[in-house]
Amino acid sequence: MNALVKLILCTTALHATLVAAAEPQAGASAASASAQQIIRAGEQPSAAGPTEYFTGRVRIDPVWPADEGISASGGLVTFEPGARSAWHTHPAGQRLVVTSGVGLTQEWSKPVQLIRPGDVVWCPPGVKHWHGAAPDTAMTHLAVTGTVDGKNVTWMEKVSDEQYEAR
Ligand code: MN
Repeated sequence: MNALVKLILCTTALHATLVAAAEPQAGASAASASAQQIIRAGEQPSAAGPTEYFTGRVRIDPVWPADEGISASGGLVTFEPGARSAWHTHPAGQRLVVTSGVGLTQEWSKPVQLIRPGDVVWCPPGVKHWHGAAPDTAMTHLAVTGTVDGKNVTWMEKVSDEQYEAR
């Protein structure tokens, strides 16, 4: 074996060792500021909306968490017909983008509003409101919710049937 081949083999082995050593760190620091990251479909389990905060069947599919770079989380929330959130406020506000179905939303002391795919709802900080599906049709929205000191919602009382049906 000549010297050049030895050098290449040695360099290749060293490179492989360095890459192997670096890989666990790269995986651990997934939120590295300089590396693109792809969260694959199927890596973020769906969860049921807790019965303390929702009426009816609700599914939450996490999309992205709030972090130091963008202090707002994203989540897809699917409400079965008649299902809705409890009354609540958000400390930094929330944007809702309806992606399918027909929904309802209401700000405290204002009329219930019908919302449809493509509609974008802005819920200002501290404004009491709820959102959910129409009585006979499911609704899914993307919820982009700002975080303040690790908190993004203050839950209140449930939306009564009388409030839900007042249209
Ligand atoms: Mn909300």
